[in-house]
Amino acid sequence: MTVHPETPARLRRTSTTLADGRELIYFDDSEPYLSGAATREVVDRRPLVVRPTAGTMRLDALTGDWVSIADHRQNRTFMPPADECPLCPTGGGTMPSEIPATEYDVVVFENRFPSFATTSSATGASAANPAENPLLAHAPALGRCEVVCFTSDHGASFSSLSTSRARTVVDVWTDRTRELSALDAVEQVFIFENRGEEIGVTLRHPHGQIYAYPFVPARTASLLRAATEHHQRTGRLLGADLLAAELESGSRVVIKGAHWTAYVPYAARWPVEVHLVPNRDVPDLVALDDDERDELAVVYLDLLRRLDRYYEKADGSPIVLPYIAGWHQAPVRQGRDVSRLHLQVMSILRAPGRLKYLAGSESGVGAWINDVSPEAVAARLREVG
Ligand SMILES: [Zn+2]
Repeated sequence: MTVHPETPARLRRTSTTLADGRELIYFDDSEPYLSGAATREVVDRRPLVVRPTAGTMRLDALTGDWVSIADHRQNRTFMPPADECPLCPTGGGTMPSEIPATEYDVVVFENRFPSFATTSSATGASAANPAENPLLAHAPALGRCEVVCFTSDHGASFSSLSTSRARTVVDVWTDRTRELSALDAVEQVFIFENRGEEIGVTLRHPHGQIYAYPFVPARTASLLRAATEHHQRTGRLLGADLLAAELESGSRVVIKGAHWTAYVPYAARWPVEVHLVPNRDVPDLVALDDDERDELAVVYLDLLRRLDRYYEKADGSPIVLPYIAGWHQAPVRQGRDVSRLHLQVMSILRAPGRLKYLAGSESGVGAWINDVSPEAVAARLREVG
């Protein structure tokens, strides 16, 4: 077990190893672990012997996009009963979970069914392309996939966390961005949360994920292209100029803090979509200062709680909003001088009981049609504040 040198004083970080060799890290923000009065010395006694390795990724020659072929993921755990939850602490249910301890604050571990992993034993791709035709390019899907458990409380959600726990998660995201960015294979660190069965969540326990990709993903590349063009033309940062434009316009702004602003984007694609951006130019979570981290915890909780009041059932009770939340950070090795950190939260729920499907226009050619006016979404989010 190791204690990390860059851990902030409000956290104790303990790295350990699961039975199959995957890393698990406890981030403790409470006693008796925070002060060191007790230490994490729990051993994972499950008979997991094979550490997951990377699959392959194939290049789509038509678009230049990499596609990860992770067919082992078909066998992953799908909606287990609560007493078999792999993200609950061990001891409460009928089988040992992924977390050997009997309680925890925040835990991060390497995904057991990863799309990207640090070691590769891939041989399948050469069988699929025996002539090694360059149009059928492939590469090992190197990188890392992690799970972040926000709380040991199975029935909680991010929006029900205390401010202090949300602040811990901000520190954990920062820690993981710093470490994963330092891996040789990694070009992009994407931190996200899928919430709700409508989004395709396979485990109900409140958790997020982190994908460290060995390439710059398509949307990141598109954001980078626009930011670079704007910078070459004006000498300024696109993200900063856009924030200024939204503040001047005002009609789509939802929350205005000292360090953060939340607004519905001018050309929102999703029925409910909000961007949360720092007021200062920062490329990634690592570059935030302490005041910005403190306010992020407060503002993000405020935003998520508004989203959970956005729609109401016929009896007036709130509808828990299915959402995807993802951090757009500067790529690890390029465009860091023009990129600007932002969080994108989006939902496919376009009305109570009605989902927006990504159908012909969106899935076929990437041309989005949004049935809802961004100004109306912002007005509703201000109303439920
Ligand atoms: Zn659970």
